[in-house]
Amino acid sequence: MTHIIRHMIKEAITGKHELSRHAYGEGREYVPLALRSQELWEGLERKSHLKIFTQAGAMGFGPQGNAPFIDEAIASGKEHNLHIDFLSSAEIKERFPGLNLPDDYIGFYEANSGFLFSENCIAAYKELAIHHGAETSFQNPVIDIETSDRSVSVITENATFTGDKLIISAGAWSGTLSEKIGLKLPLKTTRQPIGWFEANEALFNLHNFPTFAAEVAINGSKALYYGFPSFGGCGLKIGRHDYEDVIDPSTMNREFGSDIHDEGHLREFLDTFMPEAAGKLKKAAICIYTRTPDGHFIIDQHPEHAHVLIATGFSSHGFKFASVVGEILSQLAMHGVTEHDISLFKLARFADCHIKKE
Ligand SMILES: Cc1cc2nc3c(=O)[nH]c(=O)nc-3n(C[C@H](O)[C@H](O)[C@H](O)COP(=O)(O)OP(=O)(O)OC[C@H]3O[C@@H](n4cnc5c(N)ncnc54)[C@H](O)[C@@H]3O)c2cc1C
Repeated sequence: MTHIIRHMIKEAITGKHELSRHAYGEGREYVPLALRSQELWEGLERKSHLKIFTQAGAMGFGPQGNAPFIDEAIASGKEHNLHIDFLSSAEIKERFPGLNLPDDYIGFYEANSGFLFSENCIAAYKELAIHHGAETSFQNPVIDIETSDRSVSVITENATFTGDKLIISAGAWSGTLSEKIGLKLPLKTTRQPIGWFEANEALFNLHNFPTFAAEVAINGSKALYYGFPSFGGCGLKIGRHDYEDVIDPSTMNREFGSDIHDEGHLREFLDTFMPEAAGKLKKAAICIYTRTPDGHFIIDQHPEHAHVLIATGFSSHGFKFASVVGEILSQLAMHGVTEHDISLFKLARFADCHIKKE
């Protein structure tokens, strides 16, 4: 098996750690996949010398009756019997005194969730893959793909690779690559600022504060934020989930602050809900979301060439599932079927996404 990668590291991983939560605001259908992912991450940690997951806990909060993401997360927890505490505004503030919440907010806390050290996850999988005979090719962009009934050839800047099966998972560049195999995917790529802010460590350190998702009303409009406690002196990390600044991934301005709202949107949340985490900006980054119209992933076989698989459109919430997505793709590639329910991720839900290659 050969892995061909455009750049040295995964594009979206500037953040170095990513939420892994089980109660799921994006849809209760994801819970079984989140739980299987967790098992696989724990297995990876046992096989690797690297730290993969930290059980920091996960919290969600929003205004009662006006926070569908938080309501769905709570409903998903109930439906799948997850160990979750349902909390009033007063109870949340008692547990996490750094929070400044209105009285009509509600929330939940899930002790078993936490975050993944994403660069370690990738490094560990890469090391194991090479150990088991995989070959990798970095800094070698794919420029074309040729399919025939039984095989597929990938043409890169340096060489041509031919094999029985192909998995395309090119993040923000999946749209361009999919056109080479006659697919026009309805993907939108968006520019996403994230920042690390100096915080009161007695209130926002990993030992006393969890990861969070917050669906809030700020200055009359709704917004969805997520974040991580400070650890190792890094500061509280925060990003805005619903921010849709559509860009071309190849020409996007990667400088934090080049857009006037980059820091402003993050500070707006901190000033209102976590004033003691609204200190100096310690570090910042810009990364890219690859979104589908309904926010659900694309994991499927090519409609004409079943030996070509596509996995993309992870719509800002895919990293935690990378372990189970790997399992799904290996089952599809080897056996043509998977034990997991991936009906939500079918290409057929998009009309007209199949064009013929010229
Ligand atoms: C700021 C931010 C925060 C996030 N937080 C979370 C979180 O807390 N929890 C969570 O679960 N998810 C999170 N996500 C989402 C998660 O990171 C993505 O869903 C996931 O990384 C998508 O994986 P991917 O493999 O599709 O794309 P990528 O990770 O972008 O990988 C695509 C790879 O394909 C390579 N490539 C592209 N084009 C070519 C080509 N032509 N030839 C060869 N190689 C190519 C790229 O170089 C890259 O290595 C976050 C994303 C961002 C941007």
